[in-house]
Amino acid sequence: MEDVFIGLGSNLGNRRENLRYALTELKKQGIQIAKVSAVYETEPWGVKEQPPFLNLVLQCKTVLKPLELLRCLKEIERTVGRKETFRWGPRVIDLDILYYGKSIINEPELVVPHPHLKQRAFVLKPLSDIAPDFKDPVTGLSVAEMLDSVSTDGVIKTEEGL
Ligand code: ADP
Ligand code: MG
Repeated sequence: MEDVFIGLGSNLGNRRENLRYALTELKKQGIQIAKVSAVYETEPWGVKEQPPFLNLVLQCKTVLKPLELLRCLKEIERTVGRKETFRWGPRVIDLDILYYGKSIINEPELVVPHPHLKQRAFVLKPLSDIAPDFKDPVTGLSVAEMLDSVSTDGVIKTEEGL
């Protein structure tokens, strides 16, 4: 089985609880969690007028093929979102496939490596905690090298783990 990296983010409701709930659901779906990064509080990227995120990255093993994994992640987003919807509002969790081993995928619904990864310190910082030497299959750059070329302002490690 290949190493799969999944990025998690939440900026609504009880963010840490949302992340924990997603992790529990991933395990329930038979996705084996090998490593969990620290949890980072991060400034919103793109649309700035929204609350700060908590972000982390997981290293996993799974028998699921990439599109099966994507469907599974979308289902978990729905489950976590549904749970929180009546309390907190709609968008409480984001689950992204960052890398699926060395696979390069360009499907309408799935692009891997994740297209914005290289610019996103809120992904590269937690990813570098658990896999600094992993090399991007497209560019050959390591995670540590990619992290060197972005600003990590606004990406703050929280004291508490997941
Ligand atoms: P974003 O993660 O960019 O904030 P969404 O979570 O709403 O946006 O995802 C929008 C769509 O992106 C999903 O419906 C999914 O099909 C597609 N997508 C493409 N590549 C990926 C990937 N590597 N991981 C997760 N979703 C992806
Ligand atoms: Mg997403």
